[in-house]
Amino acid sequence: MKNKNKKLPGLTTVIFISLILGAFAGAALHYLVPEGYIRDTVIINGVFYVVGNGFLRAMQMLVVPLVFCSLICGSMAIGDTKTLGKVGVKTIVFYLFTTAVAISLALGVANLINPGIGLDISSIEKAETTTAEATSIADTLLNIIPKNPIQGLAEGNMLQIIFFAIFIGILLAKRGDRASTVADFFVQFNDLMMDMTMAVMKVAPLGVFCLIAKTFAGIGFDAFLPMLKYMGAVLLALLLQGFGVYQILLKIFTGLNPIRFIKKFLPVMGFAFSTATSNATIPLSIETLDKKMGVSKKISSFTVPLGATVNMDGTAIMQGVAVVFVAQAFHMTLTPMDYLTVIATATLASIGTAGVPSVGLITLSMVFNSVGLPVEGIALIMGIDRILDMTRTAINITGDAVCTTIVAYQDKSMDIEVFNDKKQEKTAAFD
Ligand code: ASP
Repeated sequence: MKNKNKKLPGLTTVIFISLILGAFAGAALHYLVPEGYIRDTVIINGVFYVVGNGFLRAMQMLVVPLVFCSLICGSMAIGDTKTLGKVGVKTIVFYLFTTAVAISLALGVANLINPGIGLDISSIEKAETTTAEATSIADTLLNIIPKNPIQGLAEGNMLQIIFFAIFIGILLAKRGDRASTVADFFVQFNDLMMDMTMAVMKVAPLGVFCLIAKTFAGIGFDAFLPMLKYMGAVLLALLLQGFGVYQILLKIFTGLNPIRFIKKFLPVMGFAFSTATSNATIPLSIETLDKKMGVSKKISSFTVPLGATVNMDGTAIMQGVAVVFVAQAFHMTLTPMDYLTVIATATLASIGTAGVPSVGLITLSMVFNSVGLPVEGIALIMGIDRILDMTRTAINITGDAVCTTIVAYQDKSMDIEVFNDKKQEKTAAFD
């Protein structure tokens, strides 16, 4: 849809304005409006909750059908299993590598800032902790094969959906014209889901405003004070990863302009930030990479959902800093061997973290257990985790997008002219 009045800002700008206004509105409600029926029940848990979560659910509704169809179309377009295998291996190696870099960076930053030294633990409100049981690597791998693909789809099990969809896509490519009805069905259904994504995005400014306002109305800023150093360390490491490490990798492997990448990808980061959900960001990420950066859906339909499921660099960063923080707060010393263990287990934990809010905190217990830190330590950071969850989700999905761009570039599945087209920096994929 074109704006008749050229002065009207694009949807991207409007989303960012809503994000900031939402934070102010929420904080104002928290500090200036007294508790009561109107504030708490009608505004925060009524309007904000319903509109914000309504928008989020509408985005989530699109994820499974969209990933399923676009992945079938993508693997059908690639066709041969050799190329698919090459793309797959490259993507997985890249994901593991960036996660290990992320944790090492987090451990480095945390040891510079020393967030837990001199902390008065009694000043922090403790919450109840939930812990995660580690599943064995063998079972994790086996679980990729769905016993019942319909159940995998119904449960939104991303790895099972990816497995089944790629299988169908490859066989459809082999059958060629003899299965054109089925192939056309998936292509057309995929287009339909894309249209639906655009339609839902039209209400994004309102949805984003309500989600952010509800968060800030609930926590305010007081809870943050004793935790400022911890939060600062996590945020610094996240920034370094998102705007340093990734952009250097992009430049080295593709020579593309990182600033242009960031400008074009910013709305997707804003969306991930407001929802704290990698999964719900998948449709928008695929569409933005396609329309604004020329990255073929052949690649992104596979790498983006896979990344949203297994590549959680932002989560790994929070876990790395949390380890140092809690060790310092409880006066425990970590040996070099402990640090190596943390790098290994946090990489595994980030693979096991689902792309939905707060799961990174639950898988953190695996990392704590591996080096003998008290799991109660998680209760210290729980109260302020939401804001970090939002930020790390933005980094999680940026890592997926950078990797996707690099893999697509190397596979020659990318239209560089679209990437270099400056016009689209300020418009969203859905403007
Ligand atoms: N909320 C994160 C995501 O969806 C996962 C986490 O770290 O809790 O990417």
